[in-house]
Amino acid sequence: MTGKVMLITGGSRGIGAATARLAAMRGYRVVVNYVSDRAAAEVLCEDIRIDGGMALAFQGDMGKLEDIERLFKQTILSFGGIDVVVNNAGVTGKSGRLDQADPRLIADVIAVNTTGAIYVAREAVKHMSTRNGGKGGVIVNISSAAALLGSPGEYVWYAASKGAIDSLTIGLAKEVAMESVRVVSVTPGMIETEIHDRSSGDAARVERIRPSIPMQRIGKPDDIAEAVLFLASDAAGYITGTSLRVSGGR
Ligand code: NAP
Repeated sequence: MTGKVMLITGGSRGIGAATARLAAMRGYRVVVNYVSDRAAAEVLCEDIRIDGGMALAFQGDMGKLEDIERLFKQTILSFGGIDVVVNNAGVTGKSGRLDQADPRLIADVIAVNTTGAIYVAREAVKHMSTRNGGKGGVIVNISSAAALLGSPGEYVWYAASKGAIDSLTIGLAKEVAMESVRVVSVTPGMIETEIHDRSSGDAARVERIRPSIPMQRIGKPDDIAEAVLFLASDAAGYITGTSLRVSGGR
């Protein structure tokens, strides 16, 4: 049991929720951030507590700097520090061609997936870096296979927002390598969550993509959670600035 603290942005559902459950099972005290689905976040935290773990749910829009700063303050006040930040909150926006997409939708996706994720990483380094008086830690960014595939006809803006996350991982890892902070990422392929329905509005996409997955199966949120927990652990102590692709070979 680690006794460490893990902050998960967008932890109320999907990949973030699976990560929260697994982290709590491994002894982490967990902060589950959500933006609007308070019920999902509270039920998840209650389940974790019933199983003997410690979890708190905090609302905050990861597209807004003031909310990000508040989330870090609340976490530190509640648990005394943060050891691992999982930069997971993400949206795709309604799928379609770029030339038909609403610019406000594109701006919203970039605000959460890219600008917000960079702000989250910034707060994490401010708190964790030994250069700033911290005791070190790990930032696990959640990228996407879309960053390399490009998602033509679906959401190239989303793919671009995740390409930026790969650059963030590489650059920030080098910047803080001597400050006891590791920066890594997980690159999920097609994972069975509500993002395809609730965010992209194209639930049928899951079955459409399945034949192109070498393993011929859709990934589960737990497949990603296992990778996050490994990269966050001391077993991955020499791993930084790189991504672990979890995509069934896609
Ligand atoms: P999901 O099931 O739709 O869950 C999204 C989570 O993010 C929810 O907890 C949601 O909170 C939260 N969220 C959304 N916008 C937010 C905001 N502005 N501020 C704070 N939280 C916000 O999505 P998922 O599939 O688990 O995706 C998680 C991450 O994995 C994303 O970064 C996504 O891009 C990435 N990913 C997913 C797949 C896939 O196939 N599923 C593949 C590659 C990468 P509420 O519950 O409050 O709405």
